[in-house]
Amino acid sequence: MSNCRVILKNGKEEAVLRFHPWVFSGAIAKVEGNPKEGDVVKVFTSKGDFCAVGHYQIGSIAVRIFSFKDEEPTAKFWNSKLSEAYKMRRAIGIAGRSDNNTYRLIHGEGDGIPGCVIDIYGKTAVMQAHSVGIHNIKDLLAKELIKVMDGQIENVYYKSETTLPYKADTDKEDGYLIGSANEADFIAIENGLKFKADWIKGQKTGFFVDQRDNRSLLERYAKDKDVLNMFCYTGGFSFYAMRGGAKSVTSVDSSAKAIELTKENVELNFPGDTRHRAEATDAFKFLDDMKDGEYDLIILDPPAFAKHRDVLKRALNGYKKLNAKAFEKIKKGGILFTFSCSQAVNKEQFRLAVFSAAAMTGRNVRILHQLTQPSDHPVNIYHPEGEYLKGLVLYVE
Ligand code: SAH
Repeated sequence: MSNCRVILKNGKEEAVLRFHPWVFSGAIAKVEGNPKEGDVVKVFTSKGDFCAVGHYQIGSIAVRIFSFKDEEPTAKFWNSKLSEAYKMRRAIGIAGRSDNNTYRLIHGEGDGIPGCVIDIYGKTAVMQAHSVGIHNIKDLLAKELIKVMDGQIENVYYKSETTLPYKADTDKEDGYLIGSANEADFIAIENGLKFKADWIKGQKTGFFVDQRDNRSLLERYAKDKDVLNMFCYTGGFSFYAMRGGAKSVTSVDSSAKAIELTKENVELNFPGDTRHRAEATDAFKFLDDMKDGEYDLIILDPPAFAKHRDVLKRALNGYKKLNAKAFEKIKKGGILFTFSCSQAVNKEQFRLAVFSAAAMTGRNVRILHQLTQPSDHPVNIYHPEGEYLKGLVLYVE
């Protein structure tokens, strides 16, 4: 039983009463019981009424709520959260497909487990903790996960060195919590295409699973196009474009390691195909140096320009500059896929940045699609911040 109590300020209860899963430090009147970071705490109104239970955190988000009922987070409690998430992935038809063994099983607040991400790659689950509360229960979660997945998963890899709060006083070592993978296990399948998901050395959990649907859409537009995939990382958009019948595909990333991975993945799917080339260089420099009209399908999927709200203005400027360069150089009648994965930048702000970029170049631009993250990255309706991926597909005259 947790005895630690967080008492909210009078008038600061509204968000929690509307099921928002974060308690900000500014809403707190007092904390009782001296909780350590990661401890379970109960949240009360100023009048002493129970509101919620969650993990305590040092920082501007002080509590990450996992239940609005007065209950203890036992193994059974976490088991039922994981089961619910797995049930949902089967209901939407993403789990249990033979042509796709890659998907997100737990998307933090979207699945009622704030601070936790779990991606599935074949027989391996890769777990990422963004809070000490989740870090403390990683072994328990791994054990329950194996039970819930009913033989589908054999290994659980924990990868949180870079995602745990950097000041957190815990052992942050990455490694397998259960099982261990063979070389062959690293080859995963997305919509029938193979790729190497290197969860040990790669970014995030090894692959950006959130672009799956958007890559499929791109595939439909790729026929006979000269495609430029900027910020390609492991080359996801590139090999979809090739399957879609692109005339040529150029992949660009500033990381030499990413370019190596892209080449490896293209080769896995299209051995010896000469339509693909890749270049390790800065995206802004590449766009400056390229000729007008060289490409008629351009993808811009940069890293989060704004990791925090205080750098928002600079980030929006970054999106504007980047998109303006693409508008300037894309072939007449070209198509631009442009994204932002910054949680701090909302849909309207991103749109405005892209619109300003278009206006700077004076070209006629029409919106074909407005994109977001796929359904295995669900947004908790009470937590709009969970909608982090934004994309626009634009026709540029
Ligand atoms: N589109 C990718 C994910 C992109 S992640 C996918 O579908 O998987 C962002 C990538 O941008 C990273 O691989 C990072 O190395 C690269 N990057 C960051 N800054 C860059 C820059 N200035 N120029 C080119 N690439 C950059």
